[in-house]
Amino acid sequence: MQKHVKERVAMDQNIWTRYSRQMLFAPIGRGGQEKLLKSRVAIVGLGALGTVSANHLTRAGVGYLRLIDRDFVEMSNLQRQMLFDEDDARALRPKAVAAREKLAAINSEIELEAVIADLSPENAEALLGDVDLIIDGTDNFYVRFLINDVSVKRGIPWVHGAVIKSRGMHAFFHPPHTPCYRCLFPEPPASQGETCDTVGVIAPIVDIIASLEATAALKYLVQDEAHLPHTLIDIDVWALTWGQIDIRQAKNPACPACGDRHFEFLEGQAGAPFSAPLVSMVCGRNAIQVRPRHAKQVSLEEIASRWQSIGKVRQNEYLLRLEIDEIILTLFQDGRLLVQGVDSAERAMRFYEQYVGL
Ligand SMILES: [Zn+2]
Repeated sequence: MQKHVKERVAMDQNIWTRYSRQMLFAPIGRGGQEKLLKSRVAIVGLGALGTVSANHLTRAGVGYLRLIDRDFVEMSNLQRQMLFDEDDARALRPKAVAAREKLAAINSEIELEAVIADLSPENAEALLGDVDLIIDGTDNFYVRFLINDVSVKRGIPWVHGAVIKSRGMHAFFHPPHTPCYRCLFPEPPASQGETCDTVGVIAPIVDIIASLEATAALKYLVQDEAHLPHTLIDIDVWALTWGQIDIRQAKNPACPACGDRHFEFLEGQAGAPFSAPLVSMVCGRNAIQVRPRHAKQVSLEEIASRWQSIGKVRQNEYLLRLEIDEIILTLFQDGRLLVQGVDSAERAMRFYEQYVGL
């Protein structure tokens, strides 16, 4: 018994030493800190928004973070993706892995899991179904609808964030207690519209939106329901404008997701209106991703030996890269291929067929 008491005192001291400044903040306190340490959060996308959210939640002592990202670090990411450095870009380190390494150095007392994957109907429930909260760090409408389907189906809240140019949006969704994302945005836009590849993005708006996301996460995890956001927030950091729309009454009874419980993205079979695209733009790197029709693991070693005679090949334990003149192909173990240097989905698909095989 005495040993138990001693251990408890040592643990208390440890928690106090690390987290005292936020435990002194009354809405968190000791009880809130204990809740954070027991919480499980998934972050989808470890780019600009995701790295900032992950940094905050790691330092705050959220006990478990699953870091999901499909991409690797490049020099053009460093302007706004706060956890990465030049060494990560030179090593072609996957963002999920590079983020885990940085975050583990910041807080070794929490559990961090890196998942190198594209969120898809096949893996979304497995990756998001066992956490207390989901954070949106994506740059992609389709993935947000997929997150929303899991959220509605499983009753798991998610925190939305989006940034472009100097502007950002943020909201908190916890259906059925709140409207869902589809109540506000019934369908993805026909085209990706403006992306950070075409109109750019500046880092300060990323920090602001991701910090609002992290704050909403902390509020939910310490169960401060009274302060959870109930507005869709729209900020332009360059124009210095801040707008909010109250969304408490925005629930749409005809919403396919939270009204009819029809999960068109999660259940989207190939060819269906909302099926997972095989080919998609990857924002921030002028690249097109092609994914295999069915999930599969590829042997990077075997393909590397085939590619040696074609062009310059580089490899690490997570991916394989081939440079043919101005085209750069990057193949991941889950069979996804990033094609840089082409401007059409058809050309990207042809590279996939030719160099990986469907
Ligand atoms: Zn809805």
